[in-house]
Amino acid sequence: MKGILYIVATPIGNLEDITMRAIRILKEVSLIAAEDTRQTLKLLNHYEISKPLISYHRHNEEIKSDILLEKLENGEDIALVSDAGTPGICDPGEEIIKKAIKKGITIIPIPGACAMINALIASGIDTKEFTFLGFLPTNKKNREEKLNQIEKSSRTIILYEAPHKMKNTLIDLQKILKNRKVVLARELTKIHEEFIREDIGEILKKIDNLKGEMILIIEGNKSEEKIENDLNKLSLEEHFNFYKNMGLEKKEIIKKIAKDRNVNKNEIYMHFIK
Ligand code: SAM
Repeated sequence: MKGILYIVATPIGNLEDITMRAIRILKEVSLIAAEDTRQTLKLLNHYEISKPLISYHRHNEEIKSDILLEKLENGEDIALVSDAGTPGICDPGEEIIKKAIKKGITIIPIPGACAMINALIASGIDTKEFTFLGFLPTNKKNREEKLNQIEKSSRTIILYEAPHKMKNTLIDLQKILKNRKVVLARELTKIHEEFIREDIGEILKKIDNLKGEMILIIEGNKSEEKIENDLNKLSLEEHFNFYKNMGLEKKEIIKKIAKDRNVNKNEIYMHFIK
């Protein structure tokens, strides 16, 4: 029988943030594949877990996944952990998971801490729909594309950023965000945990004195959504006149009203021929 690949989430700061199931799995598997074995050893020592470790990181992903897959095929259960949080989320994991699926190996996720989810839920910004963009690219063209996407997105945006690059990122964002809300979440689950819910200009004034790991939660662009909501508060006649004043034809207006109100266009058509 083939072994199981467990994807185990570990704490993002506070060592108490690990599940009982995660501890049991780490004790039961034959091997733990870790992004940084020294970092994982601290966690294992804290929980008195003694297990062979093998390094699995960005620069050896290719070779190491083949070694790990062979072991899995020979029936060994393996736990994959990253330095902090959930493997595969801006951390190694994707590569071996894709290959293991192709080989018919069972993948079992062991849920736990993930920095972006905790930053989002405490931010006070909409959680219904969001886009996680990870780290902004450093390549100028790709970065501009992403910034453009952020500017247009009506969904909440979540960004990871390295502390030493945060100032530049805030400067780039300030150019496109206008009055949108931004929350900087810092040092989650640690002693200096902090949420800065201020104007981006104010965050920029403080940034030189901020240390530790940081995440940005950016409110979605509400301008288009707001116009749509405002229009739907009008009577059908007022709604009609709004588009008429823009110079649209009757047929086009009916189509637009139906789309705004999410109803069948015949319904709107019938209203106007009465
Ligand atoms: N896999 C991790 C997860 O599940 O969130 C993310 C790893 S990624 C390499 C590291 C980035 O996550 C940091 O640059 C920071 O943006 C964010 N991060 C990780 N831990 C954090 C914490 N305790 N507080 C704030 N941000 C954190």
